[in-house]
Amino acid sequence: MSFNLAVMLQESTAATPTAPMLYLGDDTLTYADVDERSRRVAAALLARGLVPGDKVAVQLPNVPEFVFAYFGILRAGLTMVPLNPLFTAREMTYHLDDSDSRMLLTSTFSLTGAVPGAAAAGVADVLVVPLGQELPADVGRFDELLEAEPFGDLHPASPDDTAVLLYTSGTTGRPKGAELTHFQLYMNCTVAPELFGLRADDVAIGVLPLFHVFGLSSVLNAAVRWGGSVALLPRFDAQAALDVIERRRVTVFSGVPTMYVALAEADTSGRDLSSLRTAISGGASIPGEVIRAVEAKFPGVVVLEGYGLSETASTSTFNISATERKVLSIGKPVWGVEMAVLDGDGTPMAAGPDQVGQLVVRGHNVMKGYYKRPDATAEALRNGWLHTGDLGYRDEDGYYFVVDRLKDLIVRGGYNVYPREIEEVLYTHPEVVEAAVIGVPDDRLGEEVVAYVALRAEASVTPDELIAFSKEQLAAYKYPRAVEIVDALPKGATGKILKRELRRP
Ligand code: AMP
Repeated sequence: MSFNLAVMLQESTAATPTAPMLYLGDDTLTYADVDERSRRVAAALLARGLVPGDKVAVQLPNVPEFVFAYFGILRAGLTMVPLNPLFTAREMTYHLDDSDSRMLLTSTFSLTGAVPGAAAAGVADVLVVPLGQELPADVGRFDELLEAEPFGDLHPASPDDTAVLLYTSGTTGRPKGAELTHFQLYMNCTVAPELFGLRADDVAIGVLPLFHVFGLSSVLNAAVRWGGSVALLPRFDAQAALDVIERRRVTVFSGVPTMYVALAEADTSGRDLSSLRTAISGGASIPGEVIRAVEAKFPGVVVLEGYGLSETASTSTFNISATERKVLSIGKPVWGVEMAVLDGDGTPMAAGPDQVGQLVVRGHNVMKGYYKRPDATAEALRNGWLHTGDLGYRDEDGYYFVVDRLKDLIVRGGYNVYPREIEEVLYTHPEVVEAAVIGVPDDRLGEEVVAYVALRAEASVTPDELIAFSKEQLAAYKYPRAVEIVDALPKGATGKILKRELRRP
């Protein structure tokens, strides 16, 4: 069977070619506009010698070029590898190498990391979008891709082919590429109307990064699948978001809890925000207080919390409406998806708040596996269930609750920060003997990154110097904001560092 995820753009374009698909600032692009540009990108990529199955890395913020690139890559039967625009050269090299990317589409915003990172990874084909800056003379222009004659059709893919290789640490270790298939991504956006009544006349705000599964699947794909519009906003700021809501009559806001904290505190006086009806929260637990504050500030708006992972592109559970939700719960599994709570032996547990175990998921939304990592794949997909690494329980009514993370992932302001990656950098400092990184609760960001280090005898490095050392090598959202120097880190019997001891108040 041949199937290509880009069929959703093709079908919505055929149905409503002149309907708005993307807004950015003063610009409006219709379905026909985006469809045509994506066909040009597809033709140009194939003309450059890429063949179906090849990987193309896309390191762009939420600008229309991201969307042209995404659908162009899909149309051509290629695989998109979304990368964070804040990555340093070292991070770029790792991701480009690991994914076997053959080409990089980036912007002037990311050149400092992208150019040396791509060179070290041997990726010579780099095209750049100018974002508020002139293009340097020695780089290729993204716009070259838009000069090709449009590609006629969709390159046939199989439902099980990888459409997007999305980097995540999963439950452990260095970032791995989760292979998200055409079918998996298509199904996830297909269920969107069941979840929150998404319609063709909806306008979604596109402020969650499109390089993350929540923005890509739950916002962009869902809107395109059902013929809606996305009002792009490359960087979150509460007043800028309110401007977009007012100007574009946004109806659906999808965000992470820290965005809702900011919106609940924002000055909304004199604004007409009456278009907004639904606020979707995910990525981390949203406090009940924040839900109440948002609903008080935006009358008529219902906050609906969902849960998912990169590996379950994206939604696994959802609270579907004001009458069918429980505040503090992540809701119920979405259509076609099952969830269970397993004890340490892998046996399903009964309902009840004291029956806490690992949450596992199976269904159409689960990834194919981790790219080139059979062991990590087998570990994650045991007995047909995706092991989420999150601890939770189910109540008597079938609602699920996340209690804590099994894994050590830190979610700082909606961005995932993987402690091990920071620890590895700290370990490269000549005066550091041991390092452990944890997240500590933070009112504004949800969590803040804190490092504990033990130093060599006679070491003279200061916490500020270690922060600066980490900052040089890690993206701005990752480096530790505080470093505590201790004599030794707490350890268990096997010598393993006990992070839970560090977390104790
Ligand atoms: P990612 O792969 O970046 O989507 O991160 C997935 C992780 O985010 C999950 O394993 C959870 O730990 C966390 N997460 C996502 N949604 C929620 C939620 N509604 N409540 C609590 N944690 C969440």
